[in-house]
Amino acid sequence: MIIDAHVHCGIQDNFPLQSYEAYRYVVRGGQIGGAVMFPPVMEIYDRYDPHFTDSETWIHRRKSANEYLLNIGSSDFTVIPYLFVWNDFAIEQITPRHKGIKWHRHSNEPVYDYYSPRCRQAIDEIRDRDMPVVLEEEFGNTVQFIEQFAKDVKVIIPHLGILNGGYRTIKQQGLWQRPNIYTDTALAPVYDILDYIRDNGPDRIVFGSDFPFGDPNRELGKIMRLPIPEEQKEKIWGSNIERLLSESNISSG
Ligand SMILES: [Zn+2]
Repeated sequence: MIIDAHVHCGIQDNFPLQSYEAYRYVVRGGQIGGAVMFPPVMEIYDRYDPHFTDSETWIHRRKSANEYLLNIGSSDFTVIPYLFVWNDFAIEQITPRHKGIKWHRHSNEPVYDYYSPRCRQAIDEIRDRDMPVVLEEEFGNTVQFIEQFAKDVKVIIPHLGILNGGYRTIKQQGLWQRPNIYTDTALAPVYDILDYIRDNGPDRIVFGSDFPFGDPNRELGKIMRLPIPEEQKEKIWGSNIERLLSESNISSG
């Protein structure tokens, strides 16, 4: 089965439209049979306010955003929800259906409090459950997260690192070669994907579209046309993510 491992999905932020129905409409008639989905950033915090402080309204908005993903999907399409964890580290909201964690921040956005006990507890819980974290953060925090705060946690750096400091910067830091570091192909250039596979092999890279910012059909076409063996493509669009998630969040917690 072809799985799109990077999809934003929600019904509170409608610019652009990113509901489950909107995604299904875009991929209709195609070969994508399932998707990893996390809420849109604007359903989690106000990314345009660097002095953002939390409120009851936002706590509720976040909770609804994460719950929405638990109630979609159908017999002909698999939805794999990831819990979007923000600065309140509400890991008590992890359910048995969640297979991963979304962790997201750009440089001008409100910061995660990495030194709070709540953060440490959240990371310990994520590590115990062996859940992968899709980590989009600025470069310095990405390095600290991987080398220090969340050592040995499985991390998916999205977009071949475009928004985590850049593909080559991460390569120079030696992060790609770590056995617990994965990446996705969403909006990444073909030459970086090929360079990545040459350096690290085809087992820790997964297909993703970044819908609604990327077009799932075009992003899948990009993988299908890569000048690599067919069995490597099958790993990228299916078996790698299935293997990664097969062990995720199956303990009693
Ligand atoms: Zn994204």
